[in-house]
Amino acid sequence: MFLSPFGEGTEGKGFRACRQTLSPSLSQRATEKNKRVVHKRRQYRGGYQFAGLVGLAILALLLIYPVSRSLLTLADELSRPVDALPAHLDLLILHGKLVDGSGKKAHNTDIGIRGDRITFVGDARKSNLSATRTIDATGLVVAPGFIDPHTHTLSDLSDEKRKANEPYLLQGVTTVITGNDGESALNIGETLRKWDAQGIGTNAILLAGFGTIRGRVLGPGDAQPNATQLEEMKALVARAMDEGAFGLSTGLYYAPQSYSKTEDVIELSKVAAAKGGIYDTHMRSESAGLLEGISETIRIGREAKIPVHISHIKALGPEVWHRSDQAIKLIKQARSAGIEASACQYPYTASGTSLQAALVPRWAEVGGRRDLLQRIDDPHLRSRLIKEMEDNLKGRGGAESLLIADSPNREFVGKRLDAIAKQLNKSPVEAALELIKLGRSGAISFNMNESDVRRFMKEKFVTTCSDGSSGHPRKYGTFPKKLREYVYHKKLISLEFAVRNSSAATAGNLRIPERGLIREGYFADVIVFDPATVSDRSTYEQPELLAVGMKYVIVNGKVAVDNGAYTGLLAGRALRKESQRVERNSR
Ligand SMILES: [Zn+2]
Repeated sequence: MFLSPFGEGTEGKGFRACRQTLSPSLSQRATEKNKRVVHKRRQYRGGYQFAGLVGLAILALLLIYPVSRSLLTLADELSRPVDALPAHLDLLILHGKLVDGSGKKAHNTDIGIRGDRITFVGDARKSNLSATRTIDATGLVVAPGFIDPHTHTLSDLSDEKRKANEPYLLQGVTTVITGNDGESALNIGETLRKWDAQGIGTNAILLAGFGTIRGRVLGPGDAQPNATQLEEMKALVARAMDEGAFGLSTGLYYAPQSYSKTEDVIELSKVAAAKGGIYDTHMRSESAGLLEGISETIRIGREAKIPVHISHIKALGPEVWHRSDQAIKLIKQARSAGIEASACQYPYTASGTSLQAALVPRWAEVGGRRDLLQRIDDPHLRSRLIKEMEDNLKGRGGAESLLIADSPNREFVGKRLDAIAKQLNKSPVEAALELIKLGRSGAISFNMNESDVRRFMKEKFVTTCSDGSSGHPRKYGTFPKKLREYVYHKKLISLEFAVRNSSAATAGNLRIPERGLIREGYFADVIVFDPATVSDRSTYEQPELLAVGMKYVIVNGKVAVDNGAYTGLLAGRALRKESQRVERNSR
């Protein structure tokens, strides 16, 4: 069972959890030895009937010797402390400023790593420790590897050239979650096994995607499922969870998920909840329907009895600016009513999505792309379509607030929609339709107010996530940007708080065991960065510049970034939810 790193008396809990994971192997070994002793006794007993006195004496000696030797070894093992520390470790990180992920105040100390675990936190010299490799972290910050609860790395990790996940490693991210927004792999087990076989640069976690599952059963239309189809979807969620998914993700904003009823999402969430999973969502609306979206999410949490996680929380568009306080109030109310509600956020005032998803109303997308293209050219529908797109564009802040990041026609990339409209001599919405007809256009949408970004960031339940997508600097810069800009420059939040909300808080929200804290017994996902230089470099103009300042990034005990450079190691693991274990415990 997962123990939250927070709450009352967490310190002791963490240690107990660590000891619990270490002690079964010892008691198991002891039981095995006992079994061997009993087995030997039985073997020797058979010999007594046929032996003379001398033989009996020899046999007795033979009997006593192995038994007593086994018992001595056993006693010796039992008398040793459970986690006795070998004096020689694989890696020692000395004299660093430790920010351990719990939110507690930083202090200078040493860290020891053996194999894939953190085995020591304290004064290495006093404990007389040595290691194969020593890193001098004087003047540097030592912290748990960051965990990103919302990425679009599903295809990156499966791609031969991108599987190292370098944009994330260089930000200090050692674990990514993907399959968000309801878009995931249908076969979770197969994807995880592929990652095991080929190797990946960071740890990776998959969510089961509601859109993927719905699409499989219902196709791209707006049909509602009948009882059999709902059962079919539930079975697919159950299978995904059994294969290792950490929960269910939805993107109720996007077609065709947007056509779904809350009740159906609740039914599927119950399946994930029964297997210890969480519910992660890109809500139905982040603009005019922001508060309704939050209420719907909370209802799903309450009725499915599942922890809910709101991805990339924001107040999208001038219409809802400054409503972050009401959004926060709603979530806090739910939390005090016992619903585990949390959220994540990227530290940018622009979002990134497809031009189509940003502007086209969902009714026009029913059935998929071919149907949309027909509707665009349908004279009876066109005026309604344009009117609604104009409303959506206004809601986002107008044509100058949309920057085209990606288009089949490279000529438009890097230009704002108002400039493209001028160039094509069309209205902004007419120009957007031309782009949509060309194929998928990625858009950066400047639609947030800095005061909302700050207000969300200061909340304990709002963690850091990149939502990294191509064309937006957040994929390469989120975590270091938060440190550089909001910790060191604007001093909005403390370093301890920023680290906690980029590591342990996320591990708690997503139910990721034994990661996110610097603790003896935890996995050795450790970062060492220079507070003077840690920074993002990616910009809206050059979104793919790697971050700087991460001196060492250690993934499962292996040094993946050494002195600021990627070492080429694929030290990440495909992590699986141990749903079976959770089920057994909750019975
Ligand atoms: Zn999203």
